[in-house]
Amino acid sequence: MSTATAPKLTCPTRTQMFIGGSWCDAAEGGRLAVINPADESTIAEVAFGGRADAERAIDAAAKALPGWRAKTAYERAEFLNRTADLLRERADAIARTLTLEQGKPVPEARAEVLHTAATFDWFAEEGKRAYGRIIPPTMANKRHFAISHPVGVVGTITPWNFPLTLPSRKLAPALAAGCTVVSRPADQTPLCVVALFEVLEEVGLPPGVANLVMGDAPGIADAFFARPEIGKVSFTGSTRVGKDLIRKSADGVKRLSLELGGHAPLIVFEDADVEQVAKAAVLGKFRNNGQVCIAPSRFYIHEKLSKQFTEVAVEETKRLKLGPGWEDGVTVGPMFAEQGLAKAIELIDDAKARGASILAGGGKSSRFDKGYFFEPTILHNVDGSMRLMTEEPFSPVMPLVDFSKVDEVIHAANDTPYGLAAYVFTNDLTIATRMAEGLEAGIIGINDPVPATPQAPFGGMKQSGLGRELGIEGLEAYLETKSVSIGLRG
Ligand code: NAP
Repeated sequence: MSTATAPKLTCPTRTQMFIGGSWCDAAEGGRLAVINPADESTIAEVAFGGRADAERAIDAAAKALPGWRAKTAYERAEFLNRTADLLRERADAIARTLTLEQGKPVPEARAEVLHTAATFDWFAEEGKRAYGRIIPPTMANKRHFAISHPVGVVGTITPWNFPLTLPSRKLAPALAAGCTVVSRPADQTPLCVVALFEVLEEVGLPPGVANLVMGDAPGIADAFFARPEIGKVSFTGSTRVGKDLIRKSADGVKRLSLELGGHAPLIVFEDADVEQVAKAAVLGKFRNNGQVCIAPSRFYIHEKLSKQFTEVAVEETKRLKLGPGWEDGVTVGPMFAEQGLAKAIELIDDAKARGASILAGGGKSSRFDKGYFFEPTILHNVDGSMRLMTEEPFSPVMPLVDFSKVDEVIHAANDTPYGLAAYVFTNDLTIATRMAEGLEAGIIGINDPVPATPQAPFGGMKQSGLGRELGIEGLEAYLETKSVSIGLRG
């Protein structure tokens, strides 16, 4: 079966970079084709450069910094609130673009646009609360204050899975804090970010305050680390690249925020409402095709519920509708890229070779001539030796493991270098509390498969990252604390 024809791209109207308040091509004139993962067609070509373009953008951001930093938080908030309003007005158009370049179904894409708008609103308000503090002195003729100061120009690099939300989790707090920004989106999902920058231009953000550079990521990162004007680099992506950036940050002692990979356990205790939980687990797992850093990816089910959980989960999974994200009723789009699909197949082959069996899905869909369509998959007879239990799968695969003892399941859940998210389903307050305290994860969903929200901190323990985004912590990430001590005249 062929996929239906993709709708035409209507937004953004530009395909260029945005540097110093002007739309411009790459210094060397490079362009890159953006591919639709549902039919492998070219959606658009965008400007694509590298280090030289990043250098120009850093110059522009450094020039804009004193003026932007000098504005009051209330003045900055007006720009951010207007950005949120325009994003909401354009939610349908931007969502369709996001679906075309990323693959997720339009309702999920729309939810991403609205979450992004809410993020701008949250930081517009939070910027007004960048309080310092007055510290009681030990000497009568001294006064001590702690005051907040923006870190400077911020360089950001973000991936394709939430192409609009992830750059905005950096841009909105950095702007609210009084920083200026150079933003580098993922190379295959730049269009919704260009649409965001059209909004930023329209709300009248002063030239150079926010800059958009598409191009070679390592070259752009090198410019970020080499230039003294850059006060901070904020990265979202794989743990592998995150480690590389830690090494590169050493020479300039650059501040770093890292939002890295995850391999979240989802644990269902014997008192849980099994039908409701199995449905929640399917929702959490197959959202954005499992290509979510906080997606549950290791499922530990109490042995007393295991049979019933499995039946409901399999039934729910078979009900999901796979197809191009722009078609009505589609609940799961294509995977983002051939590479991700190939990795999912490898992990399943490895698990099968070690004794796992497939209960739903199991591989690439044969219903589509083009595109990276993968059947949502459930496996059982899984054990800890399989690659999908030790490597971040980032794919629509649900491996089921039975457990019986609380201590055992905490040990298994924590037995990973990752520590981003964890999920617990129980109505027992003691177990819920023990799990919230015992699980090594920065984000814990208790009876909640979708825990991220702009006002709560988001980030990982262990090798899942450094620092937090969103919440009050999300603003602090772009502020330095200065201690001011004043000696008074006698
Ligand atoms: P990735 O390969 O690390 O890429 C992420 C971004 O870094 C992309 O923009 C990429 O550019 C760029 N990049 C690649 N190599 C680089 C280098 N040597 N120096 C600087 N930048 C470089 O990650 P991915 O596979 O695309 O994304 C999925 C990963 O992101 C998963 O591990 C997922 O868990 C993680 N993630 C984490 C969070 C979180 O909040 N913790 C959220 C979402 C995703 P290109 O576009 O050119 O590839």
